[in-house]
Amino acid sequence: MASHIVGYPRMGPKRELKFALESFWDGKSSADDLKKVSADLRSSIWKQMSDAGIKYIPSNTFSYYDQVLDTTAMLGAVPPRYGWTGGEIGFDTYFSMARGNASVPAMEMTKWFDTNYHFIVPELGPDVKFSYASHKAVEEYKEAKALGVDTVPVLVGPVSYLLLSKPAKGVEKSFSLISLLDKILPIYKEVVAELKAAGASWIQFDEPTLVKDLESHQLQAFTSAYSHLESSLSGLNVLVETYFADVPAEAFKTLTSLEGVTGFGFDLVRGTKTLDLIKGGFPSGKYLFAGVVDGRNIWANDAAASLSILQSLEGIVGKDKVVVSSSCSLLHTAVDLVNETKLDKELKSWLAFAAQKVVEVNALAKALDGRKDEAFFSANAAAQASRKSSPRVTNEAVQKAAAALKSSDHRRATNVSARLDAQQKKLKLPILPTTTIGSFPQTMDLRRVRREFKAKKRIMSRLLRMKSTKVVKLQEELDIDVLVHGEPERNDMVEYFGEQLSGFAFTVNGWVQSYGSRCVKPPIIFGDVSRPKPMTVFWSSMAQSMTARPMKGMLTGPVTILNWSFVRNDQPRFETCYQIALAIKDEVEDLEKAGINVIQIDEAALREGLPLRKSEEAFYLEWAVHSFRITNCGVADTTQIHTHMCYSNFNDIIHSIIDMDADVITIENSRSDEKLLSVFREGVKYGAGIGPGVYDIHSPRIPSTEEIADRVNKMLLVLETNILWVNPDCGLKTRKYTEVKPALQNMVAATKLIRTQL
Ligand code: GLN
Ligand code: ZN
Repeated sequence: MASHIVGYPRMGPKRELKFALESFWDGKSSADDLKKVSADLRSSIWKQMSDAGIKYIPSNTFSYYDQVLDTTAMLGAVPPRYGWTGGEIGFDTYFSMARGNASVPAMEMTKWFDTNYHFIVPELGPDVKFSYASHKAVEEYKEAKALGVDTVPVLVGPVSYLLLSKPAKGVEKSFSLISLLDKILPIYKEVVAELKAAGASWIQFDEPTLVKDLESHQLQAFTSAYSHLESSLSGLNVLVETYFADVPAEAFKTLTSLEGVTGFGFDLVRGTKTLDLIKGGFPSGKYLFAGVVDGRNIWANDAAASLSILQSLEGIVGKDKVVVSSSCSLLHTAVDLVNETKLDKELKSWLAFAAQKVVEVNALAKALDGRKDEAFFSANAAAQASRKSSPRVTNEAVQKAAAALKSSDHRRATNVSARLDAQQKKLKLPILPTTTIGSFPQTMDLRRVRREFKAKKRIMSRLLRMKSTKVVKLQEELDIDVLVHGEPERNDMVEYFGEQLSGFAFTVNGWVQSYGSRCVKPPIIFGDVSRPKPMTVFWSSMAQSMTARPMKGMLTGPVTILNWSFVRNDQPRFETCYQIALAIKDEVEDLEKAGINVIQIDEAALREGLPLRKSEEAFYLEWAVHSFRITNCGVADTTQIHTHMCYSNFNDIIHSIIDMDADVITIENSRSDEKLLSVFREGVKYGAGIGPGVYDIHSPRIPSTEEIADRVNKMLLVLETNILWVNPDCGLKTRKYTEVKPALQNMVAATKLIRTQL
């Protein structure tokens, strides 16, 4: 019986790779230093898996930045602007593509399926001259072999690679990327030949795009790609790996009929229909890589339940044909529970990070083979039982309140136009009101205050209050209309709330790679969520007391808190979301009672949670939008509810955004104006206030008054004056005061100029 791991985190248990990369980029260490740290990480990962008894250990899942960029390098598909002239691609070209350099910006980055990992999008066109330009896959295989570990080299599959690419600048949008298959397959053949020569007996192609809604010509590309590769693959065992959802029935047929393929990998955690598909027919004599250990979450596997699934699969595909695996690469979970010194023993017994998941996979494989490790299984069963019955997990009042929400709708009583009228009577805002999105610069000094005075709450609170006072004064000087307190007390927009809600836990080292060297540390939602006491009322009412202008209360919305956390797997996501919504609702109502008339509920990550399959979108959007409305359905007409979203591309979900029924929506916009036009038009019909960001806060550049005025004027061509708000496109926390002050000064000046022209 065999065990397999799809892929492993690269950063290291203490983010060793992050620090090595950043020090190299800063010129503080050499390329050799970076290579050494990386080689040490790889070797310890291989050793760990081999010690655990894993049979199919992956290689080439390490990356200095991203596995898709590695594939671009392997294929020599470097966009011409990086000036690469051939030969093996080195750090210079590689990191220029990833991060840009002094003269050329980086390639585009986008989300890897529905994870929080981001990959570098290949830019391809009919003229790309592909060549075998990075031997990394072969080198890693040999490196592991020299250490005594025979690995399964992993490549991004040729079809997924093309389907994840975009047409290069200047190439027509209609250009068929898949037509490049014939040009990249010869390179794949070269790689395969070298791997074979080096002694590889298995090779893994990751083809996760198979879980999406593909058209028949795209499915056809899989058939032709693998039959094209068949002769070069002969003599090798080939695994085609899918993950993140079940493979649609049509794609399942295509996949399991691929020529030259020995094994198929499936996600049995997110792929709720995978089992049925396999029961419906699996090619005889082929291997089934059964991903039963969740690669996307931090929960310990329910080993008994997994074992019974594995046994039933064995009944279908044959005794020696089931390989126990992770549901996807472990890249998307935290690295090692061993380094969690602050979590209590009970909670820790419920968790498994990557290192523990490797052990789980192996224990399951052994058990399936009749060599059950009784101690492991009984400890696992005890932990599962304690999690099920723990009073820390269940709060009946919360369960009841959340269950009661499902059947009914929650909406404010009056429509948005009536509400805006009532609000305007109270707020008396000028036309084209100006505001910001919430945070002001998180300076070193501010971070130091939060860090050093964590234990001395009184002192910290006084120091942070001083920061807020400055922010309020600055906004008054700048003559901004609706103010914010600047969020000095927050390290992070989710962590801040999670720390004050029941049902959340925090790790010390539970980092997950987001992109390049950037990692996030998602909170863990382990129990029913409730709000013991107000979370932001102190800060907002204190700030309001300093000014006669309206002060915006500032909250993170339930969907964003959910999507940026590790979520419990013992109840549906929407139930957890409803619980968070109830907690935020309490906060909204307390803010209102404290005299805050404008409340912003950020839903930065609403779109991120959109499922991979079209058929599942409607259900998600319904409960997500419902959760948002729950938070504010109880406020008076005169209380103005804002929401903010961090992306511009939501043409496809505009109706859901309108259905959120906020009074004012501020959105990121400065990067892609034209896409938003349709959103604007819908907004006009709807009547809510809209604040498309008038400048890009992601760049240190200070926009001029003319530039901002120009932008606002363009918006006014589409939008009525009485619904337009003027604001930057996101919070200002990553900027410096020397950038923020002049930029906001110009924003207000531009607004005043236009007001005189109306
Ligand atoms: N209010 C938050 C801030 O300004 C919003 C951040 C976000 O949209 N990502 O920082
Ligand atoms: Zn934002």
